[in-house]
Amino acid sequence: ASRRVRVLVRKRPFFAYEDERGDLDVVSVHEGRRAVVVHNCCMYPDLRGMYVRHAEFGACEAFGAAATTAEVCERGVGAELRNVAAGGCSTIFMYGQTGSGKTFTMAGIEAAAAAMLLPRDGGGGGDGAAAGHLSYFEIAGTKLVDLLAAGKNQELSLKQDKDGKVQAVGARQLPVSDGPELLRALASAKSRRATQATGANSVSSRSHAVCRLTLPAAPGKRRPAALVLVDCAGSERKEDSAHHSAERRREGAEINQSLHALKECMRTWTMVEEGRVGVHVPYRSSPLTRVLKESFTRRDTLMAVVGTLSPASQDTEHSICTLKTITAIAASGGSMRETK
Ligand code: ADP
Ligand code: MG
Repeated sequence: ASRRVRVLVRKRPFFAYEDERGDLDVVSVHEGRRAVVVHNCCMYPDLRGMYVRHAEFGACEAFGAAATTAEVCERGVGAELRNVAAGGCSTIFMYGQTGSGKTFTMAGIEAAAAAMLLPRDGGGGGDGAAAGHLSYFEIAGTKLVDLLAAGKNQELSLKQDKDGKVQAVGARQLPVSDGPELLRALASAKSRRATQATGANSVSSRSHAVCRLTLPAAPGKRRPAALVLVDCAGSERKEDSAHHSAERRREGAEINQSLHALKECMRTWTMVEEGRVGVHVPYRSSPLTRVLKESFTRRDTLMAVVGTLSPASQDTEHSICTLKTITAIAASGGSMRETK
């Protein structure tokens, strides 16, 4: 099972302001038996009787609010990071509602990757023999924007070259000589990431961000080692769409379409990994899956999907939706059971 997609769940802390506004913490994490339960508080149609529906999800690893980012990096994605150190290709997806901790958790993974995969001090010049190369772009609908290009948004197009490799044409490959340089480059890239105000969320990420670090091929390996981190666009409830402009709704539809494509690719990739012949990963079906072609076609790929949860009762629907989506995306890596 270690070669399949691993599903990880992390609950962020319940914030004081959520407590003050009368919200409740409705998410229990059982790290030992690797389960997350969302206590969904419901009301009977007569609007008098109340009941709680417990939605339990099984994951490969579960992290409660007290878990540190170091724990998430070790017990959670340690296998994926070590796979890159050994010359393989690892892809880690972050999925969850806006404000649930995707960027926070990803920043921790980036720091762990910088420490594990790059020298602490490589001279910092970025010339000579680079320790690695970074590319970082954003996918908004069918648009690709380079986050490493200085100045104005630089749009890229996707092309498949004659070796069958999908390239973001003109994407900058920034040489990095050490860990601190990588983190500095990531910080400036993130500040370019477009965020737009919506009716439902004051600031919400409306795009997928794909960060790819490549290291020189390990001895005996044909291809460079690669770590791909994908910060997926925030999940969105249909009910929220009343507040949205036509443009926001179109974006929402594109996000759902790309998540569906990702799910199909993961499902078929799992089948290929299990040795089923004649199965092809339909990575061409969306820009997100096209840029992930390498991850779906290499034999030394590991994948992990990290779902982040807000514990607040106000976010119950989002949290259940996140857990259902990552369970579906990872095909075989998670399970769900409901009790009333
Ligand atoms: P997202 O990227 O999913 O929109 P963020 O990563 O920006 O969410 O997190 C929202 C807020 O919650 C930020 O202020 C972040 O610092 C805080 N936060 C998220 N996860 C944790 C955590 N595990 N521990 C402490 N603070 C967290
Ligand atoms: Mg974010």
